[in-house]
Amino acid sequence: MSDVLFTNVRIFDGGGEAPFTGDVLVQGNRISRVVKTGYGQRSTPVLGATTIDGAGAFLMPGMVEAHTHFSWNDQPSLDAIQRMPPEEHILWCAEVAKRYLDMGWTSCVGAAAAKPRLDVVIRNAINDGTIVGPRYLAASQEITVPGGLGDTTQPHLPQSEFAFGAVVSGAEEMRRCVRMFCKYGVDTLKINLSGESITGMPSERSQFTEAEIATCVEEAKVWGKRVAAHARSTWSVKQCVKQGIEVIYHASFCDEEALDLLEAHKFEHFVAPGLAWLIRTVNNAAEYGLTPEVVKKMDYPRELDAAIESMRALRKRGVRIMPGGDYGFAWTPHGSNAKDLEYFVKYVGMSPMEALLSATAWGGPMMKMGKQLGYIREGCLADILLVDGDPLADISILQDKARILAVMKDGEFHRAPPVGSARPVRSGAPATITRWAA
Ligand SMILES: [Zn+2]
Repeated sequence: MSDVLFTNVRIFDGGGEAPFTGDVLVQGNRISRVVKTGYGQRSTPVLGATTIDGAGAFLMPGMVEAHTHFSWNDQPSLDAIQRMPPEEHILWCAEVAKRYLDMGWTSCVGAAAAKPRLDVVIRNAINDGTIVGPRYLAASQEITVPGGLGDTTQPHLPQSEFAFGAVVSGAEEMRRCVRMFCKYGVDTLKINLSGESITGMPSERSQFTEAEIATCVEEAKVWGKRVAAHARSTWSVKQCVKQGIEVIYHASFCDEEALDLLEAHKFEHFVAPGLAWLIRTVNNAAEYGLTPEVVKKMDYPRELDAAIESMRALRKRGVRIMPGGDYGFAWTPHGSNAKDLEYFVKYVGMSPMEALLSATAWGGPMMKMGKQLGYIREGCLADILLVDGDPLADISILQDKARILAVMKDGEFHRAPPVGSARPVRSGAPATITRWAA
């Protein structure tokens, strides 16, 4: 891949400032130059670099998804996910990995796999170039308790293969389980600290003892791994802070003490609420049997109200709220993840700028890559999107693949911009994108 010079683009650099017109030079897998220019002012071509006239398109960092399950298979139940045979399942994950990149998610944080090694194998295949996909952190299965969220075994079929999660009871079983996943090579241990109403165990109920949780965290630390928790209940959110669980998924029910704890430790945690899943389960899943009466019985409308209130409070307190969460159900298919950004604006009170920053600037530390990712700045890794239109004016355009003109990951185009294709004039931009080699 030759070096690439983007000219005549509106640059959103991830720093929170208004976008500016300029050029971006990519050399190898890094951004080597970012220059402000006047609109329409032609820049000097760089020898050996492919020049792309962005025609006023919006250039931004690739997005980071904080709560991804490649192995969820766009079906309506946990059973449907678990019963997919491993051979089909790994192919499914590979196809989904590509879908994320197609939609501009150049990094994804795995938040649990449906079988022990699916995430690890996919991450390795992406890294060695066997398949295409985003940068990826691989997760374990969901670690749970007998009868807890993710224990889908039947009394007459107790075999672990029938369990969606890894079922443990007691500190020593927890230790053994964490060690097993570390042996497999996961980046993250996922632990289910609370229930999930759709599985029959109310979201507000908590599972595991403090001693079991402490063993999980202690053993993960020994291996240098991160812990992420499914934590909808107040007790479970507090456990995350008290026991040092870095990634908190959901956090729907936060009482005042939980909010205070999170605020006091805000740079030690990430919160990914998975709002789209709640919103769409309540409002858009009737055709899958989740009618208004059914979801009311599951208490999801109340949880949605609580989650919105919690996220509004956490946003005000400066806690990092990240997009992503449980896409891969029939009513939240993979690829539609940018809905989270729209919902952040609509329900949480974020400005479009804040929503964009949550998917970019905060993504670097979420990926354990600090400030190398999530910025259009000299020295940063070249994960870049070229967008037709202005997400700061309409955040929903990021849900439309046709509006994401180009996706670059690590300095290579996954999707190059269309050459010389006539496009409607938007915000005064010229009608074509042209590419030529200097
Ligand atoms: Zn999840």
